[in-house]
Amino acid sequence: MGERYDAIIIGAGIIGAATAFELCKRGWKTLNVDFLPAAGYGSTSNSCAIIRVHYSTLEGTAFAYEGYHYWRDWADYLEAEDERGFSVFHETGALVMKTEANDYLRKHAELAAQLDIPHEHWGPKEILAKLPIYNLKRYGPPKALNDEGFGESVGGEVEGGLYFPTAGYINDPQLATHNLQRATEAKGGTFLFNRRVVEILRENGRAAGVVLDDGRRIDAPVVINVAGPHSYKVNELANVLDDMTITTKALRQEVVHVPAPQGFDFEHDGLVVSDSDIGCYNRPEQGNHILVGSEDPECDPREFVDPDEFYRDFTNQWTVQAYRMGQRISELGIPNQRRGVVDLYDVTEDWIPIYDRSSLPGYYMAIGSSGNQFKNAPIAGAMMAELVIACENGRDHDKEPLQFALPYLKRSIDVGFYSRKREINPESSFSVLG
Ligand SMILES: Cc1cc2nc3c(=O)[nH]c(=O)nc-3n(C[C@H](O)[C@H](O)[C@H](O)COP(=O)(O)OP(=O)(O)OC[C@H]3O[C@@H](n4cnc5c(N)ncnc54)[C@H](O)[C@@H]3O)c2cc1C
Repeated sequence: MGERYDAIIIGAGIIGAATAFELCKRGWKTLNVDFLPAAGYGSTSNSCAIIRVHYSTLEGTAFAYEGYHYWRDWADYLEAEDERGFSVFHETGALVMKTEANDYLRKHAELAAQLDIPHEHWGPKEILAKLPIYNLKRYGPPKALNDEGFGESVGGEVEGGLYFPTAGYINDPQLATHNLQRATEAKGGTFLFNRRVVEILRENGRAAGVVLDDGRRIDAPVVINVAGPHSYKVNELANVLDDMTITTKALRQEVVHVPAPQGFDFEHDGLVVSDSDIGCYNRPEQGNHILVGSEDPECDPREFVDPDEFYRDFTNQWTVQAYRMGQRISELGIPNQRRGVVDLYDVTEDWIPIYDRSSLPGYYMAIGSSGNQFKNAPIAGAMMAELVIACENGRDHDKEPLQFALPYLKRSIDVGFYSRKREINPESSFSVLG
């Protein structure tokens, strides 16, 4: 008999590694296969790795708040050492600006209250005390660079924000994935790099393993697609798109790194800010830089690409995001030498992931993370492990969705929320905010 595992996980990003870890904790023998040379080298490596607890839905908010606790207790969660050390959670807190676009965060405040998530209402005074480099002039809704009035205030000031202390960012998302790799290996899991899955095997009407690009066959009764922006390609290989109402596509993203204004230590005194008035989120970055990501305002083009062939240099998108940040921080210097990252989100129609089985028994997917699931990786991994085990024990998850207990929050989540067969969720922000 050839090589055989209980489960093959396609992908060794943060969610693939967490899924393996959680299955190994439950006694499974797993193999993660990745065509890149190390764990977390795919889209995870360029993640902004922001940990935040504000989402547009009750389920999304509960999941994110549950997820926060694993980063807070990271070393305990891993139960293993890593010779490279552990990634660090900078718990800076997150400030979300109240704007017309988010209905002044009425719903987010209600969800936070319902789930006992710590939060404070900040007015201009509190915001400027924390961020004296800010001005609070209103600019929204965000405009494109060529639009008339770009960069000009529309009058008035942002009235305040919601501050969530249980938020921040992970300093090194690739290292966090390596930590999970080592934790998985300590529980008996295996990782294989520099190999691409090119075929999903079927036998007797169910998944039976994979074939790699060197022709090697590996058997397993369970195969899990955690392929990030390549997820739709892997689903095509498995031929499971037939019953999916929600699908995935690779969306190009640019993230800006600019130096903080001189005299302000944004790296240590800054925090995560989500600012729909300028269409950006930002957080501290090494070397006293400010990292600026897009909140996908309607005026910006959405560029869906082939994940194997996309343009990796900066475009006008970098410039517009830097200028938008400059609207909030007048003294921001925008360097000629553009710095930051270009990578891909794996996006669904409603920007909510798919954590589900498929029409092929034994084949599962944790995909469509839509630019916002790094923070949820540990709990998503645990949920995937429970889902796989329940389905393999005969549960018809499509008819009777699994109810998954969130250990820290001590409440359950209906895993059907993440179904591949769901209707588009109208409660979503339809953006990276989830
Ligand atoms: C620019 C950016 C910023 C982000 N910011 C945040 C944030 O601030 N907070 C947050 O919570 N989330 C954020 N995200 C989202 C988060 O990073 C992702 O949800 C998460 O990293 C996805 O992990 P993954 O394991 O699913 O996928 P990936 O890390 O993409 O891993 C998938 C792996 O599968 C491998 N693979 C694909 N096809 C095959 C195949 N056929 N055979 C073998 N291997 C294969 C790839 O090589 C890859 O390594 C951001 C994402 C990006 C791109």
